[in-house]
Order: sequence, then structure tokens, then C-alpha cells
Amino acid sequence: MAGKTIFKQIIDREAPAKIVYEDEQCLAFEDIHPAAPTHLIVIPKKEIVSVDGIEPEDEALIGHLFVAIRKIVAKLGVTGGYRVVTNCGPDSGQMVMHLHFHVLAGRKLGRLG
Ligand code: 5GP
Repeated sequence: MAGKTIFKQIIDREAPAKIVYEDEQCLAFEDIHPAAPTHLIVIPKKEIVSVDGIEPEDEALIGHLFVAIRKIVAKLGVTGGYRVVTNCGPDSGQMVMHLHFHVLAGRKLGRLG
């Protein structure tokens, strides 16, 4: 079996991270290579590889993550909008095989594509 992903290590407090939010189901921390003034990573504590690994039983969890994102951006005082992005699979450039949502804010974000 492959070793723990870096995000699982952060969940287990085996790797450091600047955690900005945590509850029983999810964790949010600052991206180590920020692409915007605010760049957070929001992850479920449950190990799910990507959107492709989401099962019907995870429906409530995925909703929970988006409610958490709303709480986090409100707590951080983000104004002017933000972007939520998730990469899934090789063509997307996904590097960490643990479902995560990037939350980007603090500058004008270019159009996608
Ligand atoms: P992906 O390309 O998989 O969607 O994005 C993975 C993100 O995780 C990247 O933006 C990368 O900068 C971030 N990242 C990778 N390793 C670490 C780490 O050890 N700590 C933190 N805080 N972020 C990381």
C-alpha cells in the first residue's frame, strides 16, 4: 500500500501546516505555494482520492465542505469574491491524491481556460 499523502500527514499532525479551520469532518490550511494573496486548501478528513473517488455515501460530506468554505471565507473577511477549484486526474495537473478544494482570493482572477 502506498504511503500517506502529504494531506493525510497534515490531518494526522505528522506534517506542519498553517491551519485556518478544522471541524470533525474537514480541515483547511494555507497552500504552501500560494497562487493568490489568499490560497487555502480545504480537505475532507476522510481519504477520497479526487472527485472521481466520491461515492453516493459522501453526498452530505461534500455539502459539508462547501458550507465550511463559506464559513472560512467569512471568517477571513474575504471581500470581492473568490474561486473554488478542484483538480481531478493527470490532465488537470492534480499532484496530491487526496480530494481538495483550492480557495483563491485577494486579487483579480483571470478567466479559466
Ligand atoms: P493539486 O495540483 O494537487 O490540485 O494541488 C496541490 C496543492 O497542494 C498545490 O497547490 C501545492 O502547492 C499544495 N501543497 C503541496 N504540498 C503541500 C504541503 O506540504 N503543505 C501545504 N500547505 N500545501 C502543499
